[in-house]
Amino acid sequence: MSDSYEAFLLEQGGELACLRFFFHCRWPSGYACPQCGFREAYTIATRRMPLFECTRCHYQTSVTSGTFLEGTRTPLSKWLYAMHRLSDPSSGINAVQLTQLIRVTYKTAYAMLDKIRQSLLSTESDLRSGSLSGSIEAGLAIWGREKLSSLELGDHEQPVAAGVACDSAGQPVQIALMEVSRSEMLDRTMTPMGCHRFKSRFVSPDPASQKTTVYRSKYLTKRHCKTLASICKAGFKRIQDTYHGVSLRNLGKYLAEFTFRWNALRKDGQCLRHMAVACLSSRLPVHA
Ligand SMILES: [Zn+2]
Repeated sequence: MSDSYEAFLLEQGGELACLRFFFHCRWPSGYACPQCGFREAYTIATRRMPLFECTRCHYQTSVTSGTFLEGTRTPLSKWLYAMHRLSDPSSGINAVQLTQLIRVTYKTAYAMLDKIRQSLLSTESDLRSGSLSGSIEAGLAIWGREKLSSLELGDHEQPVAAGVACDSAGQPVQIALMEVSRSEMLDRTMTPMGCHRFKSRFVSPDPASQKTTVYRSKYLTKRHCKTLASICKAGFKRIQDTYHGVSLRNLGKYLAEFTFRWNALRKDGQCLRHMAVACLSSRLPVHA
């Protein structure tokens, strides 16, 4: 994987190639008018990026129209680079690093990463919210676990319900993570209500999958769910090492990023493409 933005841009084939990449992510089977669905358009060259005008209804659109990327002053290649770095399992990137690599302000870099993460959090993609089936391990993990843990949850701890599905060879293939609210916890144990919410949201409705035991305490999860416990441990560590001092308010977005990447890499390895698709299809407010 290329580390610098310049090397990445060269490898992609330049700014125009990045635009083309986004085009194929938005319209994988060729352009279709967002208004009427017609598949033919005139291309109007503009200073920023081409506009497509539907030959039937004359509706004009661009690759980024209606997405949070619309009107962005940051080149699309820099957005793609940020996604590229976020999709790399071996090299996390934070806003300080991104600032230096693509020469934007810290505020811009932070907003870029935050928007991408928000898209991943809100995406309907099964890479984020797909249901686990078959052989499943499920239980409780605690984010930010304090060393001298008392019976009660600490202020900086966040309980997370987690699950992993393994294939017939015992290899983990899909994960799901869900923040558990304080009302779904009794001290350091998840209530049946919390388990139920996790199951109904993330476990396939077929009877065999629904039989999965969701371990309600971290202790039992660690003992009975070896695969899951090590995935959560590594995931939490990566988030902490990359981002330092993640606030609980933002944790959901970081967990979404981790889940999305983990699942995309195991699905077909095309994490960058999936990330770009999720960003183009998200309905976040337009970027300033
Ligand atoms: Zn049209």
